[in-house]
Amino acid sequence: MVDKERLAAAVKEILAAIGEDADREGLRDTPDRVARMFEELTAGYADDAATHLAKTFGEDGGALVLEKDIAFSSMCEHHLMPFFGKVHIAYVPDGKVVGLSKLARVVEVYARRLQLQERMCAEIADAVFGCLAPKGVAVAVEAEHTCMTARGVKKFGSKTLSVAVRGDIPESAVNMLYALAGAGAGAGK
Ligand SMILES: [Zn+2]
Repeated sequence: MVDKERLAAAVKEILAAIGEDADREGLRDTPDRVARMFEELTAGYADDAATHLAKTFGEDGGALVLEKDIAFSSMCEHHLMPFFGKVHIAYVPDGKVVGLSKLARVVEVYARRLQLQERMCAEIADAVFGCLAPKGVAVAVEAEHTCMTARGVKKFGSKTLSVAVRGDIPESAVNMLYALAGAGAGAGK
């Protein structure tokens, strides 16, 4: 559980440290606002992917399931800055499938934490693989990191791509995820 009082005090301290007047009108509510924001952005710690993947449906076809363009926003643990983009999930079921909205819930569980893109990608793949026991799963994450675009090298629009594969999944499916993520990166890539 988030200690909002402590968070607000810390934000006030940051404002003082950068030479701001935390009591001026525009900043008066900022510490409490930021505290509530952090509570929302870290809500995934109190959530469990397994609960969202518990309700499954029987399926014998074994056809590839693809859920693409799941939008997410997370926070990089190195800078506490947002990184955001899309997740694409492909899996080959082995008897059970899950409602497509549940995969979006799983993305939220891991995005609403302090994260690294690669770890988030791996955690989503592990959750789907562990809970659904499919033949195989592949997850691709494409994201823009504001710690790279708003500061430092300031490469606006540059995207980072991660892919995690578990089990047995056709190479064509993995290539499709790469294409989806690459196509989403736009002309700047
Ligand atoms: Zn960062």
